[in-house]
Formats: sequence, C-alpha cells, structure tokens
Amino acid sequence: SERVAFLEKLEKAYNDLKGLDQLKDRFLAGISHDLRSPLIPVRAFLERLLQRRWGPLTDKQEEFLRYCLIGVDRELILVEELLDYTRLQSGRLELRAEELDLQDVIRTSLFLLKVQAEAHHLQVHVDMPREAVMMRGDYNKLLRIFNNLFSNAVKYNRPEGSVSVRGRWVDEGRFRVEIEDTGVGIPRESLDHIFEHFYRVEGERSGAVTGAGIGLAVVRELVRLHQGRLEVQSTLGVGSVFAVTFPTMGPGEEAEKRD
Ligand code: ADP
Repeated sequence: SERVAFLEKLEKAYNDLKGLDQLKDRFLAGISHDLRSPLIPVRAFLERLLQRRWGPLTDKQEEFLRYCLIGVDRELILVEELLDYTRLQSGRLELRAEELDLQDVIRTSLFLLKVQAEAHHLQVHVDMPREAVMMRGDYNKLLRIFNNLFSNAVKYNRPEGSVSVRGRWVDEGRFRVEIEDTGVGIPRESLDHIFEHFYRVEGERSGAVTGAGIGLAVVRELVRLHQGRLEVQSTLGVGSVFAVTFPTMGPGEEAEKRD
C-alpha cells in the first residue's frame, strides 16, 4: 500500500544519509592524516633553525620564524582535534592512562593560555592549591581538555577582559577546576547544544572567531573517558564558567616552591 511504500522510501533515505555520514567521517579521517604529515618535518626544521643548529639568526629572522612556529602549532592543534573527532566517531578514542599530577597538565596549559591572553590583552588570574593532584589519566588528552577550555575563554572574551582559573578539592577526593571568562556569554537556548559536533553559536562576536565547533564535543568525551564531569554556567554579555571535576587519588606532596 501507499504507507508501506512511504516507509520504504524513508528507510532508503535514512540509509543513504547514514552512508553519507560515514563517508564524511572517512573523508575527514583521511584528510586529517594527510594534513598532519607534512607539518611534522616543517615543525622540526623550524625548531632546529630557532635553536641555531644551522648558524646564527638576526632578530628579524628569529621573530618571523617564531610566527611560523606558532602558526604551525595552531594548525597541528586543529588537525589533532579533527583526528580526535574522527577517532571519537569510530569508537577509537582511547586513553593511555598513567599516574600523573594534574597540576603538571594545568601548568603546561596555563603557559599556552598566558601567551594567548597576552596577545589579546587579557588578564589571567590563577588560584590553585600548592599540593600535587594525583590521578590516573592520559596526559595528552587532559592537556587537550584544558587547552581547549582555556583557548575558548580567550577567543570568546571581550577586549581588556580576564580569564580566571581556580582549582579546589571537592567531596570524595575529587578535584574541580573552574575556568571563568568575561566574554560574550552563551545564550540559554544554546547551552544544551555547544557540546554537539560542529555546533557554533550564531552571532556577530562568535562569527568573527575561527573554529570548527568540534572542540567542546571532544572535550566532553575526553572528560567522560576520565570519569569526570563537565559543567557550564553562562550569562549573556557577562561571561561563562566551565567547570571540570575529576576523581583523583587524593592530594599528593606539597609542591616545592615554584612560580
Ligand atoms: P569552536 O570554538 O571551534 O567554535 P567549540 O566546540 O570549542 O568550537 O565551541 C562551540 C561553540 O560554543 C563556540 O562556537 C562558541 O559559540 C561557544 N563557546 C564555547 N566556549 C565559549 C565561551 N567560553 N564563551 C562563549 N561562548 C563559547
């Protein structure tokens, strides 16, 4: 009958779409590998040039080589994100867990945040406890989480704004890190969607910011793989607070005095 014919058509359309979706993921997986491969030697050459392995550099040469390195690194981060996305889609996003100090991850990521914040004339406030935060986790994946949240806090900020990073112990030996920005904020109706793949808030401000809209989707999955929790609070025009909470093995030794 007519109804059966309609259902058959619907099923065919659904299967066609699913096939296209898988094709898109295979295409993305292939292209992100191909995009990354040539960047690796370029990065290595730039580093060696900057280390003056092949002779002295003038100040100008050094300055521009540094720009090149920053550009290559941004490209690499983007490509890594694409790769994570394709791994996530095919269920191949896995952790290489080891015992680590979350403070090491955050310190490394804060270094990047400070460089980015300086370029955008933003202030950075950090309030972290002194002792180690020992947990089982994948160092590079945790780094990806914080790099993403920090760079969003910079990207979606306002001029002369600030980014605050606070860490503290909460119940049952869990550690919570809050990243607060003074940015554009996220409309209430978008809050449920920002963790979806390719979702970006429409608007004048976010339109001017580059991004593929996959960062938070990957962040959410990486947090979940660490048995963590990811929350967001936001007020339009005032700013956003992203909070990640991880189970830990409890506080470690008080760290040596460091800056
Ligand atoms: P991208 O930044 O590449 O667009 P994300 O997945 O990291 O992708 O973020 C998805 C969307 O969520 C962004 O496009 C932006 O609209 C919104 N968003 C993310 N972080 C913030 C933030 N700190 N402040 C305001 N909006 C944000």
